[in-house]
Amino acid sequence: MDRGLVIVYTGGGKGKTTAALGMALRAAGYGDLRTCMVQFVKGSWHYGEADSAAMLGPRFEMVAAGRGFVGIVDDKSPREDHVRAAAEALRLSRDRVMSDEYDLVILDEINYAVDLGLVEAGDVMELIRGRPERLNLVLTGNRARPEVVEAADLVTEMREVKHPFKSGIKARRGIDF
Ligand code: ATP
Ligand code: MG
Repeated sequence: MDRGLVIVYTGGGKGKTTAALGMALRAAGYGDLRTCMVQFVKGSWHYGEADSAAMLGPRFEMVAAGRGFVGIVDDKSPREDHVRAAAEALRLSRDRVMSDEYDLVILDEINYAVDLGLVEAGDVMELIRGRPERLNLVLTGNRARPEVVEAADLVTEMREVKHPFKSGIKARRGIDF
C-alpha cells in the first residue's frame, strides 16, 4: 500500500478549493476510493459543490462546519461563533482523519483558519503526523504555515495574475460558489 500524500494548495490566486474538488471528483470515479471534505470557514452561503457531493453519495462526504468568512465580506457573527465553529471543524476533521475510512480527506480553508488564529498550527501538525498511513490529506487556504509546507509532499501556490473581482465583477454561480 502506498503512503498517502500531504498536499497543500495555498497562495492569493483563485483555484485552491477548486483544485481540491477536482481531486475529489477524480477519486470518486473509481468507486473504491472515499473522500471527505471538511469546510472550515464556509457554511453561511450556499455552494454548488455541497449538492454535487450529495450526488456522489458515499464516495464524497461534505461536512460544512464553518460560519462564513471571519471579519470580511458579509460576516456579521461575533468572533466567538467562529472560534466555536473552527473547534467543531477541527473535531470533525480529527474524527474523519483517524477513522481510517477515507482515502482522501480535504481540510478546506484550514490554512486560513490557522492564519486567523481560530485553529492552532500545532493541532494541524498533529493531524498530519498522526494520520493513517494510506490517507491522502489536502489542506487548502492562503498563508499556509511554513511547518505545514515543510511537512507536505506537494505544495502548489496559486498566484493571482488577474481576478475579475478587481474589476468590480462579483462572484458568479457555478464559477465561484
Ligand atoms: P475557489 O473556491 O474559487 O477555488 P480559492 O479557494 O482559491 O477559490 P478562497 O481564498 O477560498 O479562494 O476564496 C474564496 C472566494 O473568494 C471564492 O469565491 C473565490 O472565487 C474568491 N477569490 C479567490 N481568489 C480571489 C482573489 N485573488 N481575489 C478576489 N476573490 C478571490
Ligand atoms: Mg477556497
